[in-house]
Amino acid sequence: MNDALKSYIERYTELELGMRELINRKGNSLCAQCSCVCCDVVMCVEGVKSPFLKLVHQQTDEFDEKKGFLSATGCVLEKGRPSVCYEYFCDDHFYHQPDEPHAEVLKIIGALLYHATRDVEGDVSLDEITTREELERLDLRPFESPLRESLRALEIIRVFYRDGSLSADDQTALKRIRIAKEFQSES
Ligand code: SF4
Ligand code: SF4
Repeated sequence: MNDALKSYIERYTELELGMRELINRKGNSLCAQCSCVCCDVVMCVEGVKSPFLKLVHQQTDEFDEKKGFLSATGCVLEKGRPSVCYEYFCDDHFYHQPDEPHAEVLKIIGALLYHATRDVEGDVSLDEITTREELERLDLRPFESPLRESLRALEIIRVFYRDGSLSADDQTALKRIRIAKEFQSES
């Protein structure tokens, strides 16, 4: 693996694990107790179709044709889940948020991977790269600033959850995070 890709994957993994920590915090962790999980093998398949995600999780051999990555205790992937797995929150999540800013912040957390895996113009997505060779040849420089913006947003949200502060600069930084069209109006 080339150095630029290796470095990108390390920071992407840091982002994903940080997001998971925020999603699993008290008040956001409904999925852990859910009796009707919305995981679907159609979504899991993205995790084996994408050479990028395969490099992140390195668990392709755990994919099952019928169950995908879902086991009796939840998803077996610690990292490298398709971004859609984080982007969707059912209405219950928004119902349990204390106010509108918390609901907005939750949507932004879910979008951090989506944002980081699209180049600065939004023209190229790492999900669309279908071969390892293409991935190795890809110029990752246009993805650097979206990844940095997602990591910065992660830090802002950590502080917001800790002490409720969200300065005007923080709000501007959060607004930079692109949310996929299909998830923009859920709240
Ligand atoms: S998003 Fe909602 S329906 Fe899906 S697993 Fe979480 S709590 Fe269950
Ligand atoms: S969270 Fe895991 S099991 Fe659920 S849809 Fe995503 S990859 Fe599949």
